[in-house]
Amino acid sequence: MKNILLSILFVGIIFQSCNTVHNKNEIKPYLVVLSLDGFRWDYPDKANTPTLDSLAKAGVKAKSLKPCFPSKTFPNHYSIATGLYPDHHGLVLNRFHATDLGKNYSISDTKTVTDGEFYGGKPIWNVAEEQGIKTATLFWVGASADINNERPSHWSLYDEELSKQDRIDSVFHWLSMPEETRPHLIMGYYHEPDETGHNFGPESNETLDLIEELDSFLADFFTQMRKLPNYDEINFIITSDHGMAELSPDKVIFLDNIIDTADLEFIDGGNPVYNLKVKEGKLEKVYTELSEYGNNLLVWKHNEVTEELHYGTNIRTHDITIVSDSGWSIYWSWFNGKSLGTHGFKNTCKDMHAIFYAAGPDFKISYNQPTFNNIDIYPLAGKILNLKLPKVDGKIENVKDMLKTK
Ligand code: AMP
Ligand code: ZN
Ligand code: ZN
Repeated sequence: MKNILLSILFVGIIFQSCNTVHNKNEIKPYLVVLSLDGFRWDYPDKANTPTLDSLAKAGVKAKSLKPCFPSKTFPNHYSIATGLYPDHHGLVLNRFHATDLGKNYSISDTKTVTDGEFYGGKPIWNVAEEQGIKTATLFWVGASADINNERPSHWSLYDEELSKQDRIDSVFHWLSMPEETRPHLIMGYYHEPDETGHNFGPESNETLDLIEELDSFLADFFTQMRKLPNYDEINFIITSDHGMAELSPDKVIFLDNIIDTADLEFIDGGNPVYNLKVKEGKLEKVYTELSEYGNNLLVWKHNEVTEELHYGTNIRTHDITIVSDSGWSIYWSWFNGKSLGTHGFKNTCKDMHAIFYAAGPDFKISYNQPTFNNIDIYPLAGKILNLKLPKVDGKIENVKDMLKTK
């Protein structure tokens, strides 16, 4: 208990000076965005998170952050980076066949992850660089790709093994660089608590212990940042790409019990969301078989996906999109996954929602932000950095109230 009180006090001190409104002509603003993969919106209610609680007091806490459909890692990190729905930026799943390019994309294939041809839209780091603001990224989806011959000033190939301390040191190093080369937009990524959520389930002690571990990582991060002479000028966003739903071994749909795999050209995706390319002349047959299956399986033809999901119009989503109801798995009978948690479900399912916290000179203090879409982070970042942005799906109107006068 004493430790908890001390850390609340300590983090309180860390944030006490985030109170100054700057004159935008005097100071070139800073924004640091950190994403902790799969950090469900309600984890802080279930675990002890003094650092996040202090952030909420010092700045903004959203009720929840609504991901885009499908609530998978790559589509959503790139939606945050571009302000576009996955249907519009082209990373329609973590793994897919890009019919337009005649190439396959996979998150585990460095060659494709770094191939700019797959990436639509204009990531915020490229917008910033074009407008004279240096940027740095630590493993954000898309940042290792050359997109329209542009890249962040600082980027590196994905390295999950990089220690937490090294990540903190990288951000500190960047923010300590001479002003001519110093990045004013930094975007960093860490793969937890997603991995533990998959392995043990979102309600497990293992996941909740990890949430507390990540909260102390954030305390270490802010302790280090506090040492920067320009700390008071820096805006911070701590967020995530999606949540996590508990799976049950009794709730499994085996695709090969419903359709004949010989009717498929190929299938993209992973539990619980897939896009099917159907063999010529088989569309109605496969669609009918899937539609007649029952309530826990949602099925749409290309261009017919329910409007609220903003999905299924990109050529890379193929002929049919399927997703199960939250908590249900879709596998093949010869491959029955063992995960206790997953994501990818409709973004209207609350378990798919993520966290959003923000603090710094441009954010209001102790402000409760209603649930908003992660594509709105792009215009928010643009506003903070005084950037002229291309037209995107995200809307500043949804998020501007969390800012002081800008
Ligand atoms: P998923 O839970 O399947 O949606 O994806 C999460 C996984 O994506 C993590 O475990 C990471 O290993 C991986 N990942 C995240 N960012 C990157 C990246 N920039 N490059 C390669 N893999 C990544
Ligand atoms: Zn993720
Ligand atoms: Zn995941």
